[in-house]
Amino acid sequence: MFDLDMRKTFLTKRTHENTDGRCFSAPLGAFGCPCVRLHPLGAMRVADALFRRDMLGPSFLNLMTSWTGLLLIEKVVMEFLMPLMIPSIEAFESFMGRRLAVAILATMNSTVSFWGFGLLFALPALFKVRRWKIQANKDLDTNMLFESLPLIACNFTMQVFVGLPAMWFGLPQSSYDWHRLPTTDILARDVFVWLLVEEVCFFYVHKWLHENKEMYAAVHKIHHTWTAPISLVAIYCHPFEHLVSNILPVMLGPMICGSHVAAVGVFLFVGTIHTLIVHSGYWFCDDNGMHDEHHAKFNVNFGVMGLMDSIYGTYRLPPGARVSK
Ligand SMILES: [Zn+2]
Ligand SMILES: [Zn+2]
Repeated sequence: MFDLDMRKTFLTKRTHENTDGRCFSAPLGAFGCPCVRLHPLGAMRVADALFRRDMLGPSFLNLMTSWTGLLLIEKVVMEFLMPLMIPSIEAFESFMGRRLAVAILATMNSTVSFWGFGLLFALPALFKVRRWKIQANKDLDTNMLFESLPLIACNFTMQVFVGLPAMWFGLPQSSYDWHRLPTTDILARDVFVWLLVEEVCFFYVHKWLHENKEMYAAVHKIHHTWTAPISLVAIYCHPFEHLVSNILPVMLGPMICGSHVAAVGVFLFVGTIHTLIVHSGYWFCDDNGMHDEHHAKFNVNFGVMGLMDSIYGTYRLPPGARVSK
């Protein structure tokens, strides 16, 4: 049993807290940080000390929320949208051939999700709306955006030309059977694997691009030209980075699972909107400002959901982010 004074000495040790009192750089992240708040009555919170209960969100709940949300969207599309679309898809297939029909549909999917939603989420920055901005003191440099557009367009073209063969050769032919859409348990398994594979692969590749000085200077520095990003610059990066850090981590999960192409299409559509919205620079992002903080501070938040960052102690939210007390 601890002596009361010893407990207070231990509990007031806050070597890793930022100005909001939230830990972000503990070497053992969610599992071992000594930052512990004192209870108003001075009682020890063992759960806080041992398990970093305040890190439960990034370490577990974000994954569960993304899994539930994406599963729900998949289920709605499979149950209500696909039965309406399948006759038209089959007619299109018999007219164009399966390979060309899927290529055209996938390109339409990419174009609508990236350019359609990308331009929509860029509107507040283009009109210099300050309200709800995460980095409120930084306005969009319109000239810089125009100069960035050729590389963005180049990467968009590359993702179509790499993604289509990857889908065609990486998925089994049963993935293209429109009369055998995935059931709920298959979707639940696939969505979980996709999210986990993306989180782990993106985190390690992204961290490597930062820690290897040559790779950072030659490759990743381009993406970090934007310290206050807007939606469309989500794919403003070196083409090599776009391939290994953006395309592969997303395509790998569906290939491992042999997922149905309709479910993969939904994943790519939602995933594109996610990456656009976390680069939007506004509080309507769905990651609580996590990726915007990465662009502002460089050495935090290398992952997508916070799971890997909470393990490595690199999870940090910007001032103004919502945190549960
Ligand atoms: Zn980024
Ligand atoms: Zn980075």
